[in-house]
Amino acid sequence: MSENLNPFAIAQAQLDKAASILQLDPDMHAFLREPMREFHFTIPVRMDDGRVQTFKGFRVQYNDARGPAKGGIRFHPDETIDTVRALAAWMTWKTAVADVPLGGGKGGVVCDPRKLSTGELERLARGYMRNIAGIVGITQDVPAPDVNTNPQIMSWMLDEYEVIARHREPGVITGKPLALGGSAGRSPATAMGGMVTIREAARVLGLPLAGATCAIQGYGNVGSFAHKLAVEVLGLNVIAVSDEYGGVYAGNGLDPDIVSTHIRRHGKLNECVGTDPCTNADLLEMKVDVLIPAAIENQVTGQNADRIQARIVAELANGPTTPEADKILTEKGVYIIPDFLCNAGGVTVSYFEMVQNAYQFYWDEALVQQRLDQKMTTAFQAVHEMAKQKKVETRVAAYLVAVDRVAEAVRLRGWV
Ligand code: NAD
Repeated sequence: MSENLNPFAIAQAQLDKAASILQLDPDMHAFLREPMREFHFTIPVRMDDGRVQTFKGFRVQYNDARGPAKGGIRFHPDETIDTVRALAAWMTWKTAVADVPLGGGKGGVVCDPRKLSTGELERLARGYMRNIAGIVGITQDVPAPDVNTNPQIMSWMLDEYEVIARHREPGVITGKPLALGGSAGRSPATAMGGMVTIREAARVLGLPLAGATCAIQGYGNVGSFAHKLAVEVLGLNVIAVSDEYGGVYAGNGLDPDIVSTHIRRHGKLNECVGTDPCTNADLLEMKVDVLIPAAIENQVTGQNADRIQARIVAELANGPTTPEADKILTEKGVYIIPDFLCNAGGVTVSYFEMVQNAYQFYWDEALVQQRLDQKMTTAFQAVHEMAKQKKVETRVAAYLVAVDRVAEAVRLRGWV
């Protein structure tokens, strides 16, 4: 039978496994398996040629027992409601494992942003916000960037919200530019949080990181910062990186400044000077100490997991590994840093951004980094200890920590 790659079915299967180990009350389990609320809408956008194109948009508030829903907005041609549901579920577990007082949500628009002009993109972003303005806010639901959305898109959305609300409320959205109330250190935060978890994993495995080899799939916000920080902070030798068009390889290591300059000029990694080409499939299966999937879901599957040679798989992307691949990697003794732990640095600094917006008092980058490191180290240790204590793999351990915290909030509220 072929593998079920529906991301929401995968998220539910992961929860089911944790629920059975936790002996979670069946009524609680049934409640946590489904999103609490979801919104489906259309966004008519006047295109530059005068036509009106209708886009499909979603916002899912998966669970807000621990605080307002929190999660990014993805613009992607393959976006589906089930992807948004899965990402919203993972946000719920992520805010819980990072122990920030927020719930989980996610949004998306089915569109190909590369085919939109800047004006069309702005009208789409504002149209999206007009649809959700009534259901977001600092006490309800706080969006942020995700794949193909960025600080400029957050700025348009913030402005549209404030026009409708007729007051300033910078905390309604995070990942903003500094000039509109963004936090120092937000752009590298997801990658930086991941570096903390890799450092901690290497420590418990007794693996020296200086000079250890690394491959990174995806070269957007998360992957490009992961490259820079893996080299500068951990001393890793990053030998391969890729984007959706393919990858580049250099056995002696890729210089992040050269690769970033190349991608800024050419829009893709192809033909970066001093490198050989490789495919995404080659990259995932390379003999490296640390493999960092930082692109999209379902990259390590039952089809290729037995050929993965990494010692540590640090999941900066959401949902890169399927349950079948999980089984195979666990049998091979690969140490997985599960997605909603590994990439929790982004939401952690988004939470810091909300705190700074509320106080109208801003921290410098060193303080943000220090607090991020503390939060990520604590989260890693909680998951690692749980894995040891219950003798389960790290993904299940992360679920045990997170589900227990969310279930406690649900119980205290008397919902179940
Ligand atoms: P992005 O849009 O900035 O970059 C995505 C990168 O992945 C691009 O380089 C793109 O070319 C590449 N890519 C897309 N499809 C690919 C494919 N099939 N094969 C190989 N590469 C492919 O997005 P991002 O913000 O860097 O997010 C990357 C991942 O990290 C996503 O899974 C996202 O949900 C997750 N994440 C992001 C944040 C954040 O703060 N941005 C936080 C937590 C998790």
